[in-house]
Amino acid sequence: MTVEIICVGTEILLGNIVNTNAAFLAEKCAGLGLSCYYQSVVGDNEERLTGVIKTAIDRSDVVILSGGLGPTEDDLTKEVACKVLGVDMVSDESVKEDIREYFVKKNLTLTDNNWKQAMVPVGGIVVKNNNGTAPGIIIEKENVKVILLPGPPIELTAMFNESIAPYLNTLTPSVIVSQTVKLCGISESLAETKVKDLIDTQTNPTIATYAKTGEVHIRVTASEENDKACKKLIKPIVKELKERFGNNVYTTDEDVTMERAVVELLEANDLTISCAESCTGGMVSARLINVPGASEVLKVGYVTYSNKAKRKNLGVKKSTLQKHGAVSKETATEMVKGLETTSKADVCIGITGIAGPDGGTESKPVGLVYIACSVKGKTTVEKYNFSGNRAKIRESATSAALVLCRRCILEYFSKVTFGQPD
Ligand code: ATP
Ligand code: MG
Repeated sequence: MTVEIICVGTEILLGNIVNTNAAFLAEKCAGLGLSCYYQSVVGDNEERLTGVIKTAIDRSDVVILSGGLGPTEDDLTKEVACKVLGVDMVSDESVKEDIREYFVKKNLTLTDNNWKQAMVPVGGIVVKNNNGTAPGIIIEKENVKVILLPGPPIELTAMFNESIAPYLNTLTPSVIVSQTVKLCGISESLAETKVKDLIDTQTNPTIATYAKTGEVHIRVTASEENDKACKKLIKPIVKELKERFGNNVYTTDEDVTMERAVVELLEANDLTISCAESCTGGMVSARLINVPGASEVLKVGYVTYSNKAKRKNLGVKKSTLQKHGAVSKETATEMVKGLETTSKADVCIGITGIAGPDGGTESKPVGLVYIACSVKGKTTVEKYNFSGNRAKIRESATSAALVLCRRCILEYFSKVTFGQPD
């Protein structure tokens, strides 16, 4: 079955916002076993939107539109889609009630144009929006299903996961189930090499690798007549992947992120953590705070960007900074040593690096980052050479710090050795 994604919004065309909805929808649809051959972006313009929808419904089985379901004049996706499909619209009492409830709950003032969102196509399926006022709409025609979703990502993603994915599953005789094995401390090329034989020989389930910053995800996807049969096919492959990748597997749970894995590991071992960050400017602490319950483990997060701050807050020696520089193994080590003393945390992370674009030299190029991690006084320091722009280097350093932290805790408690990350 083929799916086509159309994102509506002049802001996307102008590059004012990044089209994250398309990436989300494409990835989800692929996970559901749908083939996405076309994606397009079109502005808030009736004529051009009409053209794009007409083309899509002629060549695809499912057409998903994102955006333009709001209450204002320029929101015209629903009206245009209904016109193209020859469907009338009526006001829906239960949607009206939902909108009224939403406004009362949020203490907002309802205006007349909000009732535009209660207009639904005759015979269409109305999908509840738990995070906003515009309901999703499914219009079923003989040869094509057209799905309209609100533009704000928080509304679109929740609605897709809660209602659209289960709906799409009902369209095919088989169901698609996938499970992701998440790896860290390994490159995508090495990960792929290690599973190439499985990728080449498996057709159901299929196995695919995806590179993420500091991580590699391997998705195992099965297609069978029901959930149970899919899981039966997936289970031995996941077991095999766990055996092949050992400690590089940090989770097989879709909802577990790297930061959550670290927080859970800290909790499980009754450990606290503190961070002293230079080039990452608090991003490691921020990632940890993404996890509900991080307050149980995170003691303090310093942004010690200047040399003065490194000296004053962490006790890094002036002579160390003069002799080895702020970006050095020695400075990173003294950062965690100072952090151990001041914060009394069990695990301390110190990060210092050159995020660029300026400040690099031949011996210390942009992208050079030292990360030190101590667990109950036992310190490990790693040197990294990240590439990319300033944002990418900072993001890579943040992920690497979390990965190193996990590795150091595991090594400390189980005495396993991971060796150098590649
Ligand atoms: P609203 O009721 O907020 O008007 P809507 O369904 O009409 O919702 P749009 O007006 O198209 O949606 O977009 C609302 C906001 O959602 C945009 O300003 C933007 O921040 C975000 N958004 C829209 N489309 C996308 C997209 N494709 N990718 C990422 N964000 C998007
Ligand atoms: Mg809008």
